[in-house]
Amino acid sequence: DPRAQGIASTIRVVPNFPKPGIMFQDITTLLLNPRVFKDTIDLFVERYTGKGISIVAGVEARGFIFGPPIALAIGAKFIPLRKPNKLPVHAYTRSGEVISEEYVLEYGADCLEMHVGAVQPGERALVVDDLVATGGTLCAAIALLERAGVEVVECACVIELPELKGRERLKGKPLYILVESH
Ligand code: 5GP
Repeated sequence: DPRAQGIASTIRVVPNFPKPGIMFQDITTLLLNPRVFKDTIDLFVERYTGKGISIVAGVEARGFIFGPPIALAIGAKFIPLRKPNKLPVHAYTRSGEVISEEYVLEYGADCLEMHVGAVQPGERALVVDDLVATGGTLCAAIALLERAGVEVVECACVIELPELKGRERLKGKPLYILVESH
């Protein structure tokens, strides 16, 4: 698709961020170009319209940028998958109860949380993030939704770093990406 070229060319590569040796793919420069940002959302919306998806789950933080416009356009609800202790839980009634899934990073561990009451067993979900590297983050996102009885249809990211083979860690779920970065 010719739109993918515009997406690739507006992503800025920042060497040695946030640590020496990392070539950080910065999507904030893509957001500055309204035509390219719209192309990005349109490509996902064209793929997921009419697929019976009732949940778009976005991974903190950049999945919160791309997920909501996709959810609105396909008529799905948006669910934030958040870093620990960000989602409110009522201390007495337990309303807003969360489930957590830890995952391993290059250095140390991290965790994602989801409000269980936000989903019903049997719903069909799309997981959205900006980038897949090792796949650990998306794997945790899939696990949270599956624990709540949700069927994960696909994971969608703007960029993949294919050398890290993240798509092999997605519990057999398909991964759709717009751009590859080498
Ligand atoms: P993974 O869990 O696949 O190793 O890492 C993917 C997660 O880290 C995503 O949530 C993504 O936002 C973030 N991430 C890792 N590297 C980069 C990068 O170079 N650019 C951006 N924008 N995000 C990154």
